[in-house]
Amino acid sequence: MPKRQLVEKILALKAERDAIILAHNYQPPEIQDVADRLGDSLDLSRFAASASEKVIVFCGVHFMAETAAVLSPEKTIILPEPTAGCPMADMMCAEDLVALKMKHPGSVVVTYVNSTAEVKAETDFCCTSANALRVVQAVPEGKTIIFGPDKYLGGWVTEQTGRKMILWQGYCPTHQKIHPEHIQEQRRIHPGAVVMVHPEVNPAITSLADVVLGTGGMIAYVEKSSVREFVVGTETGMIHRLQKKFPDREFFAATKHALCPNMKKIALEKVAQSLESLGPVIGVEPGIAERARRALRAMLEIS
Ligand code: SF4
Repeated sequence: MPKRQLVEKILALKAERDAIILAHNYQPPEIQDVADRLGDSLDLSRFAASASEKVIVFCGVHFMAETAAVLSPEKTIILPEPTAGCPMADMMCAEDLVALKMKHPGSVVVTYVNSTAEVKAETDFCCTSANALRVVQAVPEGKTIIFGPDKYLGGWVTEQTGRKMILWQGYCPTHQKIHPEHIQEQRRIHPGAVVMVHPEVNPAITSLADVVLGTGGMIAYVEKSSVREFVVGTETGMIHRLQKKFPDREFFAATKHALCPNMKKIALEKVAQSLESLGPVIGVEPGIAERARRALRAMLEIS
């Protein structure tokens, strides 16, 4: 079906189904363009909870739809492609976390929202890349902190806060595709640009950047800045988001290889199919959801 017809079909089905389409900043451009709301995973989950629509089509990866399901148990949360997972979230499992907690009685678990609902259920505080520093600083001094799954975000938090933490050894394979040579090359081509990188990158990259920010932080930074050019060290979908929001500025991907294959599994045809069939629905077992919600709320109280 031609793209325009497909978009019209999606818009008609959306109204018929009382649905809303949410898309993560890393989604393909055509999905971003059809979405009602763009944002990072937590923004979108919070928006889903406050939306009046009963059906939420979450264009992102599995843990994001799960987080929305945890925060909005009364709504129908649909992930248009159920195999769109997050390799980093899958690097941390609840059983191993429980075993580590037993080895460190009294420890406090801080978990990045890029984690499964089962892991969140074993967590004291969730965090995002935007509030990780604040959340870790809120843990009383002297407490052992277990941080996961991202060892690079955890390492950056340790560097910024001076808090020693037991780091889970997970990482985002997409952000590891950004290498120091990419930043050096972009600096050479765009000498006046500000280099913004995501804290999921390797420390060899953060040390070369001007600022280290999550996707929401990047948007806020550009809004306040008078600079015209930016090199962006995160998943390439962010370039479309930034360029559309700030048409008078220029954005350059640190490398076009920083592409998350799971994020790119969502396509317009799949969104249309999901609205037609009202599936696949993502649900979380109520007991797990209740405990995961506690960890998310503990984070929201701090930030
Ligand atoms: S970009 Fe990285 S952290 Fe985000 S969904 Fe893809 S693999 Fe997971």
